[in-house]
Amino acid sequence: MTTIAFIGLGNMGNPMAANLVKAGHKVLGFDLVPASLETAKAHGLDIVASAGAAAENADVVITMLPAGKHVLSVYSDIVGKARKGTLFIDSSTIDVDSARKAHSVAAAYGMLSVDAPVSGGVGGAEAGTLTFMAGGAKDAFDKAEPILQPMAGRIVHCGEGGAGQAAKICNNMILGISMIGVGEAFVLAEKLGLSHQALFDVASTSSGQCWSLTTYCPVPGPVPNSPANRDYKPGFAAALMLKDLKLSQEAAQASGAVTPLGAEATQLYALFNQQGHAGTDFSGIINFLRGKA
Ligand code: NAD
Repeated sequence: MTTIAFIGLGNMGNPMAANLVKAGHKVLGFDLVPASLETAKAHGLDIVASAGAAAENADVVITMLPAGKHVLSVYSDIVGKARKGTLFIDSSTIDVDSARKAHSVAAAYGMLSVDAPVSGGVGGAEAGTLTFMAGGAKDAFDKAEPILQPMAGRIVHCGEGGAGQAAKICNNMILGISMIGVGEAFVLAEKLGLSHQALFDVASTSSGQCWSLTTYCPVPGPVPNSPANRDYKPGFAAALMLKDLKLSQEAAQASGAVTPLGAEATQLYALFNQQGHAGTDFSGIINFLRGKA
């Protein structure tokens, strides 16, 4: 049994922490929102009064927070309170620069650290099947891997500090672009009098095949579990897709990468969000492409 501090018990953090409890760990939980703490208590977490109180008694600290500024603020608050050699795992999706700063802060206090953002959404968090993309030194990763296991379907060590966040935003840039591409193809098919099922049957076994089509098809019918079949209830909200696309564009600018389709996808998702669809599943962008959003 390991004592784990879990800070940030929102949509993702709560079910992730619940799986750590199920695996037999003692989990000390903290969040700013009382309702999240109540849910965490029902999952078997021990609720503590502050992030510092969680960290000072833990072997491992996991953070699952909204953005880089929250992670850096929590790290600077708690890193001096944790025991030397404590393993810090940040699973939030944040910018690469903040992730690297978080590693530096941890190292300055003699801590081990891993950035380990996830893919798989709330469903994956509940089922314990998330994909973790980890960045950090090998000794830190080796220590993190068995801790992540009860929450994971797959764990990939992507490289040094920040590499996990780099993998996450590159993956989600592909996802944002490919969902728009698949949506455009269905809209064109409609105009050409081609049925959704016919396009799906061809493209899903041809060179147009991709996850946005075969797992997350943006029209109702061909893939029964996709959000299109439940009026685009998320799933993965358009607000989160926009967040990740913006991170990809910040990283592209900072590194000098040329990503014109990433930039265009960011603009389209920004418009979709502005029109009041931030809480809609990101595959609902097909309605925006039809001019019906
Ligand atoms: P959320 O907003 O539901 O949860 C974040 C939690 O952090 C909130 O409960 C908030 O109160 C808490 N928090 C903020 N500042 C805090 C502080 N200083 N101390 C303690 N708690 C604090 O968000 P979420 O959906 O759980 O996502 C968390 C992270 O995971 C984000 O970075 C998101 O981009 C990423 N992510 C989300 C999904 C998803 O499908 N929801 C999928 C993959 C990755």
